[in-house]
Amino acid sequence: MTLLPERLLTGYRNFMAQRYANETMRYKQLADQGQTPETLVIACCDSRSAPEIIFDTAPGEIFVVRNVANLVPPYAPDGEYHSTSAALEFAVQSLKVKNIVVLGHGRCGGIKAALDGDSEPLSPGDFIGKWMSLVAPAADAVSANELMTPFERQTALERISIRYSLRNLRTFPCIDILEKKGRLTLHGAWFDISTGELWIMNPETGDFLRPDPEEVGAPAALE
Ligand SMILES: [Zn+2]
Repeated sequence: MTLLPERLLTGYRNFMAQRYANETMRYKQLADQGQTPETLVIACCDSRSAPEIIFDTAPGEIFVVRNVANLVPPYAPDGEYHSTSAALEFAVQSLKVKNIVVLGHGRCGGIKAALDGDSEPLSPGDFIGKWMSLVAPAADAVSANELMTPFERQTALERISIRYSLRNLRTFPCIDILEKKGRLTLHGAWFDISTGELWIMNPETGDFLRPDPEEVGAPAALE
C-alpha cells in the first residue's frame, strides 16, 4: 500500500535531512511564538509559480493564498463560502501584514480558459468557468482585439487580471482603510516562467516594468 506518492516521501526525507536540520531553531521558534509574516502573496495554483520558490523565502516569511489565476473576488459579505476572502481577512486582521502582492504569471491556464470562452467545461459544475467569469468583461474585450497575437492577448489579460484583483482588494473595507492610513501597501507582479523575469507593476500607471538589474541587486551571497 502506498500512503503517499514516492516522490513526496523522498522529498520529505530530503527536507528533514537538509532544510529542517539546518533550520531547526527557526521552526521551533515559529512553533513557540507563532507566525509573523509581513507579506501576503496571492498567487496562482500553477505548479510553476510557487511564491516561496520565486522569492526564495524561509518558513514563516510569507503568507500565501493560491487559487486559479490569482484572482481576488470583490468584497461580498453574503454568507457564501469565500476561501480567498477568508485568507485575506486572516492575513490583514489577525496577522496584520504590511504588504499584499498579487503575483500573476505567464502561460496561465486559467487565463487561457477565460480567453477561450467557448471551450467545454471540464465538469458539469464548471467551477473554472464560474471562477474565471470574474474577469469575463476584460476577457471579451481582449479577445476582440484583432491587432494582438494570441500570445499578446494572453499576456495582456494576465496583467489586466492583476490590476482587477488589486482593485477588488480595495473593495474590502479593512484593506481600504489600512491602505489609506499607510499601514498596508498593495503590489502587483507578473512572473515569466520561460525566462524567470519578474515584471513589477507601477502603482501609479498600472504598467508592468522589468526592474533594472541593479535595482533587483546582484544575487545575495550564500552564507
Ligand atoms: Zn495560472
